[in-house]
Amino acid sequence: MSVEGKIKFSKALSNCLRAAGLLNKVSRRYFPVLAAMCAVNALTPYVAVFFSARVLSELATYRRPDTLWRWVIAGAACTGAFAVVKAMLYERQETLYDDLYGRKEILFARKMFSLDYADMDKQATHDLRDQIRQNEGWAGLGLMLVPTVMGELLENIIGILSGAALTVSLFTTPVPASAGALTVLNSPLFILAIAAVMVAVSVLAGYCSARSELYYTSASEEANFGNRLFGFFGFFGLQKERGADVRIYSQERLVSAYWAKNFAFGGSGLLARLARGPMGILSGLGTGITVVITGCVYVFTCMKAWAGAFDVGSVTQYVGAATAMAGSIFALMSAFGELRANGVYLETTFKFLDIPNAMYQGSLTTEKRSDRNYEVEFRNVSFKYPGAENWALKNVSIKFKVGRRLAIVGENGSGKTTFIKLLCRLYDPQEGEILLNGIDIRKYDYRDYMDIFSVVFQDFQLISQPLGANVAGRADYDAERARRALVDAGFGDRLETMPEGLDTQLYKDFTENGVEISGGEAQKIAIARALYKDAPFIILDEPTAALDPIAEAEIYGKFNEIAGDRTAIYISHRLSSCRFCDEIAVFQDGSIVQRGSHEELLADGSGKYHELWTAQAQYYTGD
Ligand code: ADP
Repeated sequence: MSVEGKIKFSKALSNCLRAAGLLNKVSRRYFPVLAAMCAVNALTPYVAVFFSARVLSELATYRRPDTLWRWVIAGAACTGAFAVVKAMLYERQETLYDDLYGRKEILFARKMFSLDYADMDKQATHDLRDQIRQNEGWAGLGLMLVPTVMGELLENIIGILSGAALTVSLFTTPVPASAGALTVLNSPLFILAIAAVMVAVSVLAGYCSARSELYYTSASEEANFGNRLFGFFGFFGLQKERGADVRIYSQERLVSAYWAKNFAFGGSGLLARLARGPMGILSGLGTGITVVITGCVYVFTCMKAWAGAFDVGSVTQYVGAATAMAGSIFALMSAFGELRANGVYLETTFKFLDIPNAMYQGSLTTEKRSDRNYEVEFRNVSFKYPGAENWALKNVSIKFKVGRRLAIVGENGSGKTTFIKLLCRLYDPQEGEILLNGIDIRKYDYRDYMDIFSVVFQDFQLISQPLGANVAGRADYDAERARRALVDAGFGDRLETMPEGLDTQLYKDFTENGVEISGGEAQKIAIARALYKDAPFIILDEPTAALDPIAEAEIYGKFNEIAGDRTAIYISHRLSSCRFCDEIAVFQDGSIVQRGSHEELLADGSGKYHELWTAQAQYYTGD
């Protein structure tokens, strides 16, 4: 496996800064607290070094009780104050980090909400989002590693500066001339050589650690896959619905085979192999090399003290500070390594966050007409799904008559749902145009245009929220209006039996008292939702697919009545449901092949409608 960074350091740095800016925007409080915590963390070891050096110096030289007391008390007070502030900042930082995590998730959710439907509908978009989640899941890579890395950079830079401040006099305090040959320690060249060795060794150690880190993060693809396998096999035995199959077919054998061979995080898995191999060796080497620095500092400091440059207290200060500083240089290099490795994962994050809104956004407002006199026309519309070879709709032209009922029928895959998706502007056609009152729908404000449609999609989803909130699509709603919509949709009797009326929670996801509802009941609630919206167009896309023919007849019979003065469009592959419509459009292979009333269409014995009708009549009568 190659551990070469996949992007340049400068790019990784700019990704990191962009991510920090983004996170700072979602939570203004986090970074100042993080910075304060890092500063306190960085200074803490030097506070102890400084005061113990003063105490030792006093003990080794003048031995003045007053001064000694003062140093001891000042040292204890400062160390204590640092410890208290550090603990408080840590707690504050932790809670703000959790808050930041939540806000980051909202950022992703908002992005998903705001995507053009075509992008939201693409598998590639969901794969990208999954990849981001998996990178974060297995090693914390991505946006949330940025605060950690930034904190490490800041803490270690402050650490190095503090260490330098406490060690500078190690190099500048001269050995007295009486020290003879040891005066060589005063030579600038000698000092430079020592300092250079210390820095070089720290950098080398940090480099080893950073390379080791790269091994870890470049295992991401395998680790992500391992995580997915673990998510499946690891919890296989816990799933109630698998219990019977597991017992009948001894499926635990499959799981055991997985544990034996493919457990990425197990003792013989990829990460364990890396830890035994180059990753572990580099990490060990990095830590080992830093000992050389401590050795150099000890030798240099002790020789100068021996020669009479300073006392034993200063020895403590220099050795302590230089060792801590070497640790900071090492950690800084490791943080740079982490920053570089994470840069690649941030690319994935930004790839998702930067998905543009390509749909043309018009600004015209749709007039709010009390007479609901909206006329929609498809003019030579053709459409292909992104990446698809074939046209899903080809050259479709149709004009809706206001207030009438239009039925759309046709076999599965003939383009009925696609037609509705274009009508609601979830997609834009590649050819032709769709007009609302004579104006291309792309020129209208998108939200405004959406407001004129209520649709019950085939795969509608209700939410684990109270019934009323489901109907209204919001928590604060007009209860009387929601009740009326439910009654109109045929849910009245069931509403009477709901334990908390409109406040009854649907499903049991969040409460034991939630109510499970049948497919037919769910459909009625979905229809009530469409009625509550009270849009001029009401569209039902095979809303009765899950119902038996009697329940279907009930819903259709009622719906015809409550559609009132709205323009209603029904899609169904059950022709019997559509007989009552003023007009029926028959779809075949993405085109409208017939239009007319039920009787007119049936009269054409060679037409598609006749063929479908005959086939279904046979089905229903069992001939
Ligand atoms: P119907 O509603 O009449 O069953 P659809 O409008 O759902 O038909 O589908 C029309 C054609 O478009 C079919 O060939 C279907 O496979 C294809 N199709 C539908 N949705 C997608 C999609 N999201 N991506 C690619 N092709 C699609």
